[in-house]
Amino acid sequence: MIIDCHCHAGKGDGLTGPWDTAAPLAAYLRRAAAAGIGQTVLMPTFHSDYAQANRELAQLLAAYPDRFLGFAFVHPVRDRGRVWPLLRGAVERYGFVGVKVHRADARISREVCEAALDLGLPVLYDVMGEVEVVELLAQEYPDVDFIVPHLGSFADDWRAQQALLDPLSRHPNIYADTSAVRRFDLLAEAVQRAGPGKLLFGSDGPWLHPGVELAKIRALRLSAADERLVLGGNLLRLLGRGRPAERASANLKSVAAPAAAAGRGR
Ligand SMILES: [Zn+2]
Repeated sequence: MIIDCHCHAGKGDGLTGPWDTAAPLAAYLRRAAAAGIGQTVLMPTFHSDYAQANRELAQLLAAYPDRFLGFAFVHPVRDRGRVWPLLRGAVERYGFVGVKVHRADARISREVCEAALDLGLPVLYDVMGEVEVVELLAQEYPDVDFIVPHLGSFADDWRAQQALLDPLSRHPNIYADTSAVRRFDLLAEAVQRAGPGKLLFGSDGPWLHPGVELAKIRALRLSAADERLVLGGNLLRLLGRGRPAERASANLKSVAAPAAAAGRGR
């Protein structure tokens, strides 16, 4: 099944642009169905209260549990001190399976990373071109999986996207999504250098057309097995890896190696 790893839904409470106003899904769902997309990861729009935005999105997740997965939005500064309870509630009460952070709100924080580590959640962090932070995230939180949307830049910043390819290739916990990437050769190079296991198909719907975004993946002309990874296999692996029980046993293994034991506290 094809899974779109990046789509917004719900109402924002701003009025700046589509991103904080509204993300209606009717057209997206028609287009996704026509393209053969069977499941979609939803995240809220920008909002001044992510506890509320996540709660509202949870109603959609509960109504269509087979169609949608959810990533909970948190604001690293505004939610400081309550990120962990906010995310734990999102996971346990509403079934969210990942975290969304956007640098337009604030830069990602240790508090967010540590909550994600503890709860076993992947983090989709829009770096807005600031790709160098990926080095720090990869080294400080090797047991958290980070998805960098738009290959590092929704704004089509070629330098940022090019610069992401190196850390994407070197760090096992750094992934990228394909949404809104216009320079096709960079997608091709990402697969070639980092491998099909490091790219996730995403549309950034409902604002971008999921069929158009999916066509870019088809145009990569991957083998059937590699294409399946990009179109959902990688995401499912990340979510599986995120289960607390598996995470705990992975941590035990790392503690068993004496050199790694020192720095691996929670
Ligand atoms: Zn987005």
